[in-house]
Amino acid sequence: MPEPVKAVFLSVVIPVFNEEPNLPTLFARLFPVLDGLGKTYEVLFTNDGSSDRSFELLRGQHAARSDVTRVIDFNANYGQHMAVMAAFERVRGEIVITLDADLQDPPEEIPKLLEKIDAGFDYVGGRRINRKDNLFRSLASRIVNFVRSQTTNIEMTDQGCMLRAYRRAVVDAVVRSGAINTFIPALAYSFSSKPTEVDVRHDERLAGESNYSIYKLIRLNFDLITGFTLVPLQLFTILSLLCATGSLVLVLYLAYRRIFLGVEVEGVFTLFGILFFLLSVAMVGIGLIGEYVGRTYQVIRTRQRYFVREILEIK
Ligand code: UDP
Ligand code: MG
Repeated sequence: MPEPVKAVFLSVVIPVFNEEPNLPTLFARLFPVLDGLGKTYEVLFTNDGSSDRSFELLRGQHAARSDVTRVIDFNANYGQHMAVMAAFERVRGEIVITLDADLQDPPEEIPKLLEKIDAGFDYVGGRRINRKDNLFRSLASRIVNFVRSQTTNIEMTDQGCMLRAYRRAVVDAVVRSGAINTFIPALAYSFSSKPTEVDVRHDERLAGESNYSIYKLIRLNFDLITGFTLVPLQLFTILSLLCATGSLVLVLYLAYRRIFLGVEVEGVFTLFGILFFLLSVAMVGIGLIGEYVGRTYQVIRTRQRYFVREILEIK
């Protein structure tokens, strides 16, 4: 039985959801890179409720390299960021690197990130130089990037890139924050004191399709925006207030015409005026409720986030 490593230099965190065809290549490319670093390390895989044989492959890898491999097995699919979070709660490394399992983030780029950490940064974000996603993804990503940069003070060029390195203090802060619906790179950014970025290669997905459906993607991006700012809600309320003011002016004007100039088009415009006014009052109401829901949501985000069925590791 190899000796378990209690504290290591590097923890590599990899969420896995139905990556059966990619895992063998991932193991074959990742472990040599890490062995080549000449530092102690561990790799933490989270099996995020895969329905294929991913977990069996992870079990096999754990059997083969139990000194450096740990596997967290979720009972169901909780999403990439929860999978990363579960691993963050259990890392033993001073430095933590996240990586996708589909080999879009080449493991060979890990040393680049470590160089930056060595240079004294506590957060290193990857910036994909030749992004290999389809036009829709890239475009959507640009839009969200824009909204994020306008509404929050999080500065990153490539928020979607999961190839990132963090100092342990940042990871611990992410864990302590207890965030539920969260976007880890942004949350971690808000806790870092010296962030930087580095260019990394981006490859095509080795096999299979992206696990992100449009719905999941929209939800993730909502998490990114609502998790870090209430500005959208506030803008909505302000817009509704402007509408309400405008309609009030219209109603008063129409009332004036009605009283002093007589009935026009059988009262249709007056009716419209009143309708618009009431509608915008309702909108202000919705905006306000949204505001409160947003705030409540920020407070209650601490319920149990996922369920771990099993952990393969040497204690
Ligand atoms: N993933 C996960 N749970 C999910 C969806 C994805 O753990 O519900 C993992 C997936 O196995 C991969 C990473 O998150 O390691 C990125 O997923 P994917 O490649 O599908 O996303 P994309 O590269 O298209 O953003
Ligand atoms: Mg991918």
